[in-house]
Amino acid sequence: MKYVLVTGGVVSGLGKGVTASSVGVVLKACGLRVTSIKIDPYLNRDAGTMSPFEHGEVFVLDDGGEVDLDLGNYERFLDVTLTKDNNITTGKIYQSVLEKERIGDYLGKTVQVVPHVTDAIKNWIESVSVIPVDGKEGPADVCVIELGGTVGDIESMPFIEALRQLLFSVGQDNFCLIHVSLIPVLGVVGEQKTKPTQHSVRELRALGLTPHLLACRSAQPLLETTKEKLSQFCHVPVGNILNIHDVPNIWHVPLLLRNQNAHNSILKQLNLR
Ligand code: ADP
Repeated sequence: MKYVLVTGGVVSGLGKGVTASSVGVVLKACGLRVTSIKIDPYLNRDAGTMSPFEHGEVFVLDDGGEVDLDLGNYERFLDVTLTKDNNITTGKIYQSVLEKERIGDYLGKTVQVVPHVTDAIKNWIESVSVIPVDGKEGPADVCVIELGGTVGDIESMPFIEALRQLLFSVGQDNFCLIHVSLIPVLGVVGEQKTKPTQHSVRELRALGLTPHLLACRSAQPLLETTKEKLSQFCHVPVGNILNIHDVPNIWHVPLLLRNQNAHNSILKQLNLR
């Protein structure tokens, strides 16, 4: 199994879900079978009890799972039918760990975030990623994992650590990290600012993960000088810096990725080309 992880930096609501779904679309267009997992680092077990005013509409899956709206994007973009287990929350992970603890599965050990919670996350990802979701037999080729929230949040730390361990166990050739970040334009000068992205990449690297691609969200297309600066300070080749500027309709996003050859960069990282 090959994994594509999508993380987000600087602010929430950047379009990680749309980016992750669009990455799935361009990989599917290359003939690969794609599945997806959405990680929501909140303590609610699922989105069923969350106010739509605060969180957006709840998406209901075929198996009755009440999940984040992003799963709806995945189903529509990728033409797949996901299960409730494709949505991992902190609540679900802790519930499974505590159930195991109560029946004595940890054999008297002190149950801790590392390694028990992180192991539960890794095992969950590995077992759900092989469930076929496109109506065909056997596991998909690539699993796109979206980590909700923003890198550096306390609540997403166990997930980042689990994903770092996952990368280490599957190897660099099977793991591609795409970091979605914001490039704001400040004041009348109209300069595209790279510093917030530099800081969020540094934060990610401090946690043991180095992005292979940067997906930059901005109002206008990125200037070549902005890309060069990002490349130099974020340790990402210029060709792997993608620009996802504001578009009138999110269905344009897969085309934006294809026009920038995102699929080639991802396939190369995954050793598929
Ligand atoms: P996140 O997963 O980071 O919280 P979402 O993928 O849910 O973000 O997107 C947040 C909002 O931004 C959605 O309403 C989505 O339609 C919109 N959006 C995402 N990408 C773009 C884009 N390139 N241009 C315009 N709107 C976008």
